[in-house]
Amino acid sequence: MKKLHIIGNWKMSLNRKDSLSLAKNICSINFNDHLNLEVAPTSLYISEIINILKDSNVNVISQNFDFESLGSFTGGICLDQMKELGVNKTILGHSERRSKFNESDEQINNKLKTILNSDFDVVYCFDSPEQIPFELIKNNLNDNSDLKLTIAYEPTWAIGTGKTASIEHIEEIHTKVKSNLKEIMLENIPILYGGSVNPTNSNEILNTNNVDGVLVGGASTKFDQLTGIVNSI
Ligand code: PEP
Repeated sequence: MKKLHIIGNWKMSLNRKDSLSLAKNICSINFNDHLNLEVAPTSLYISEIINILKDSNVNVISQNFDFESLGSFTGGICLDQMKELGVNKTILGHSERRSKFNESDEQINNKLKTILNSDFDVVYCFDSPEQIPFELIKNNLNDNSDLKLTIAYEPTWAIGTGKTASIEHIEEIHTKVKSNLKEIMLENIPILYGGSVNPTNSNEILNTNNVDGVLVGGASTKFDQLTGIVNSI
């Protein structure tokens, strides 16, 4: 049985009380070694969430990072600060960072280069395969671990809209990216799908060829829906 990944991106959707309460509930979800379950809370509460989930198998990751090291960057967060809290993985290039924070492909690629050369793992999000910097990845991914880099296909029009891509479309994009990864000998990199995943569509998506998991926004902030997705495997 192949390993599947479910990553919950809580965005800025929950206040402190609801974030902590969701994390406490998540401790009770049972799942086996074939599932890698991770949550990405807002960085403001990340320490508290890590503390709540410390005895569980759920990994806590960041939604974004700005720089590698400390510096004069008002409002920013860096990898070295996250490391102090025990965080070792982050999402990068989410479509909301691109559209609402105006992060360009160039900025995101620079951050990708930084993180591939660090001891952090990264979930790189893309909207169309042309965006993926395969050459940069090939030249900077020196780590043999399969989870150093995860790629997530997130069609912008499907994020938070309730509109999910068709299974045929997901399979077509994932198969294309998988074959591009094969060309650079990196076919083991997991490719996740994200875009209005919920307990009703998750089983079919997770059973699609070349889909190694799901990146879930809205549904991951509701305990019954997150549990439903985990149980749909
Ligand atoms: C996301 O934020 O990455 C996402 C896929 O959101 P949603 O599941 O709400 O569409």
